[in-house]
Amino acid sequence: MAGRADSTVLAGARVVLPTGTVENGRVIVEGTRIAGSTQEGARTVDLSGHWVVPGFVDIHNHGGGGASFATGTAEDVLTGVRAHREHGTTTVVASTVTGEMDFLARQAGMLSELVEQSELAGIHFEGPFISPCRKGAHSEGLLRDPDPSEVRKLLDAARGSARMVTLATELPGGIESVRLLAEHGVIAAVGHTDATYEQTVEAIDAGATVATHLYNAMPVLGHRTPGPIAALLEDERITVELINDGTHLHPAALQFAYHHAGADRVALITDAMDAAGAGDGHYELGPLAVEVKDGVARLVEGGSIAGSTLTLDTAFRRAVTVDRIPVDDVVRSISANPARLLGLYDRVGSLDPGKDADLVVLDADFALKGVMRRGEWIVEPRVG
Ligand SMILES: [Zn+2]
Repeated sequence: MAGRADSTVLAGARVVLPTGTVENGRVIVEGTRIAGSTQEGARTVDLSGHWVVPGFVDIHNHGGGGASFATGTAEDVLTGVRAHREHGTTTVVASTVTGEMDFLARQAGMLSELVEQSELAGIHFEGPFISPCRKGAHSEGLLRDPDPSEVRKLLDAARGSARMVTLATELPGGIESVRLLAEHGVIAAVGHTDATYEQTVEAIDAGATVATHLYNAMPVLGHRTPGPIAALLEDERITVELINDGTHLHPAALQFAYHHAGADRVALITDAMDAAGAGDGHYELGPLAVEVKDGVARLVEGGSIAGSTLTLDTAFRRAVTVDRIPVDDVVRSISANPARLLGLYDRVGSLDPGKDADLVVLDADFALKGVMRRGEWIVEPRVG
């Protein structure tokens, strides 16, 4: 079972550091942190033939393990958090879905307590300020324009724990809302949007810094109507989220984003719903019924893709083995970049000494073999 390693040396692995991969490297864990040098009496775990990478950071995630961050109780949320931790996500932001404003405010209050307890890294509001033309799996009747005073209500309800709001910035109040978010240090994310290229540029100039699941729930890139995709990919101020589950994106679309934006501007996300780590069956996404078949979540009514059942260990493995993205680049986009976006890079996002001992052990085929969070094994590697 999982236990605290007071002083442990993980030896013999390929260790991915910000400066590159170290063959036959070592990671020293002292209590809850990564240490710079070995202490006496340290236990050594032989990880030859394995990779050690930083714990994954997911900035867009609606739940897992059969439980919803958007509508569940605090206990449900912890179930979802645990399910994702077992798949390597040591830092997770809870994403809501469109709902009544009062309900969202109450849910945000509950989630903010879990942020204070360090179970969550923050709250992401996805909806209700999104476009009815690109609503995806959000209830149309509950959508509303991004009036800054309404946006403000959600920020207040989150009591300092709001980290990101996805909005269709072309709607009335959109640009003012982006400014409001930027002023409060909350990420304004362009998404579920029907914006033109020019409207998207305006939103970026106003302070938007993230593209919510680039390509999904936005107009396609046309040669006379380049739309949001061109604007978001070309601007260095933007980090693009990508859902690498093999359903939301063609590998070439993912590679195109990596090549065009560069690995430092990609954040791999799950956009997971309850069924992540829980299997096929019937679920709910906010107020909408969802059926999960062969791991693909779709609305019962209309058949829209309704989030994913992805976990970040699968996203990592796909990125390396299917999409052929270099391991160092995948590590940046799954750990370092999202940690920076959250303002947490001094604590997590790399294996530098002094940071939290959050790490993932992968075998030579990039299958998950171990997960450590704050010095404690969540999944203890059975090796050596
Ligand atoms: Zn989402």
